[in-house]
Amino acid sequence: MRAIILALLAAILLLAGGLTWFVLSSMGPGDDAGPAGGFGTDVGTGTAVDSAARIEIEFMRQQIEQLQEGMATLDSRIQTLEQRPVGGGGSFAPGPELGGQPNEGVLNNGPNAIIDAYAQVVLIANRRKVNGKINVAGPGFLEQFIGRPRENLSDNCDPMTNPKLKAMLKLESVGPIRVSMLQPAIESITRVFENVKNTDPDLYARINTAGSLCVRQIRGTRGRTSTHSFGLAVDLNIDGKLDTLGDGKTQLGLTILADFFRAEGWVWGAGFSREDSMHFEVSRQMLEQWRAEGKI
Ligand SMILES: [Zn+2]
Repeated sequence: MRAIILALLAAILLLAGGLTWFVLSSMGPGDDAGPAGGFGTDVGTGTAVDSAARIEIEFMRQQIEQLQEGMATLDSRIQTLEQRPVGGGGSFAPGPELGGQPNEGVLNNGPNAIIDAYAQVVLIANRRKVNGKINVAGPGFLEQFIGRPRENLSDNCDPMTNPKLKAMLKLESVGPIRVSMLQPAIESITRVFENVKNTDPDLYARINTAGSLCVRQIRGTRGRTSTHSFGLAVDLNIDGKLDTLGDGKTQLGLTILADFFRAEGWVWGAGFSREDSMHFEVSRQMLEQWRAEGKI
């Protein structure tokens, strides 16, 4: 825990250093070396550079604030941990040796403070690399591989009309939630949740869904099929709290869930160019494996 705080402090100092450098360099005389700053093709207009610099400074300031917030949270969590009586075996649950004393004090401070952290919103570390070597299937590949779910797509959830896909579609309880997905995806997500339940039952109990099957085009596109259309994607959250699309942040519980999904071969939307961290979908590798096994 102390190491994390030190790392955060170092990050704040680095960012603060970067911010100072940025302010000084953007206040200096014009950059004769050309557009090395990478601010695009705006030539000779001081305002363009100034506003870009201002955006960058604001961005850095936000990052510093987020790090400071993170430090404050960690600090209060350390205090909570230090106040807890030392129980047996390092378990979060209060030991029976507490005997006649009612445990409510322990329950209200210790474990709940830790469990509450699952819903907390945090920055996604190394966001663009969270999926490692697991590949996104993509609408083009999916349509070729298993067919288009329906001909005309709108922005709403329309019925699936492709008979082959419809035959594989199942509505089932998969641990803590109910999903409508293709049969092999149901089997896979059931395994994911089994593992979560065995490893982290508190997190498991708080998993919620914001939807799985929805035959529609990707928002903001014309006719690009969303992975949700194929019954191969699910949106999840902790305690029903909706994620903000594209802010580079997610709930702490989702970062833990992502590890379980990755182990089973799923893609996490946190790594998409437009961050979508509540979104989990079946990867290309999984589809190819299912094809080889005759499941799809
Ligand atoms: Zn989604």
